[in-house]
Amino acid sequence: MKFLRPTIADMQGYVPGFQPDDVASWIKLNTNENPYPPSPKVVAAILAELGSDGASLRTYPSASSQKLREAAGELYGFDPSWIIMANGSDEVLNNLIRACAGQGQDVGYVHPSYSYYATLAEIQGATICTYGLTDDFRIEAFPRFYHGKVFFLTTPNAPLGFAYPLEYVESLAQNCGGLLVIDEAYADFAEGNALELVMKYENVVVTRTLSKSYALAGMRLGLAIARPEIIAALDKIRDHYNLDRLAQAACVAALQDQPYFRESCRKIIATREWFTRELIAIGYDVIPSQANFVFASSADKNGKRIYDGLYERKILVRLLSDPLLAHGLRISIGTQTEMEATLAALKSIG
Ligand SMILES: *Cc1c(COP(=O)(O)O)cnc(C)c1O
Repeated sequence: MKFLRPTIADMQGYVPGFQPDDVASWIKLNTNENPYPPSPKVVAAILAELGSDGASLRTYPSASSQKLREAAGELYGFDPSWIIMANGSDEVLNNLIRACAGQGQDVGYVHPSYSYYATLAEIQGATICTYGLTDDFRIEAFPRFYHGKVFFLTTPNAPLGFAYPLEYVESLAQNCGGLLVIDEAYADFAEGNALELVMKYENVVVTRTLSKSYALAGMRLGLAIARPEIIAALDKIRDHYNLDRLAQAACVAALQDQPYFRESCRKIIATREWFTRELIAIGYDVIPSQANFVFASSADKNGKRIYDGLYERKILVRLLSDPLLAHGLRISIGTQTEMEATLAALKSIG
């Protein structure tokens, strides 16, 4: 197609997890969504914003998302000038590359982690460099000093679920000449996080999402925390009305209802720990997880066989085609009842 840039014509495009049409007939454990609904206050805030006749939708939403920045700032302990809101954290990941890495410049990330970084880098014509993992989950051959423009670190790692120790992440920040983007999509399910490194190092950016821990994947809400100079640059290049009115109302209500949020995370973590123990008891290998999913493999290391057995029983999990990952499955943590059904299904598959 002669109208396209060659990079775009040649690229594969990212393939998101399968969203079945008849979602109610599945136990859906394939895209790390929250099995519990968002806070009732979120629903009330959306309805209040909409009003009975929808007249609020006539006018553009706030372009600055200032109320959201204030709510997030208060929650995370940063001035709002250190925070940018995004239409899903995917948007801000994209804008970080657009702001920092151009044609032919290096963007790095760990393989396996979130391969969408590669798609985003490819769109900019940036050069992608991936780094493997050692057996003890450290980055293999991370250079003495990283000279690329951006390095993405997913912690807790997806799809494996482990988190890097903070001292290790700090050593990467010190040895990184470009931006170190710490993608904390799952940090709310983890014991720690790297927010203090944002204060300490000018090259550290932390991204978060409301998709998983706040049960708002359908609203598209994410954010980044970084130095005001970086935030100001991201502000220049985003769509000016990147968050719609209903998403803005939902976001403030969600961040402010911390008791509901904490209880929802607590239940998921408790179920994750229970499910991990049960899987081990039936002979599975399970990587200890700090996220809302586990990566597990059966004794015969045949992910496809287990995937198919679960699929027949209307349980959807994620089988990753990557040869490094095809021996296992990434299983999102659902409700306790859903995970009991999943465990029973795994026992019957054998
Ligand atoms: C889910 C996920 C995202 C995307 O989050 P959205 O806010 O829904 O765009 C980013 N990074 C990782 C590692 C994720 O798992």
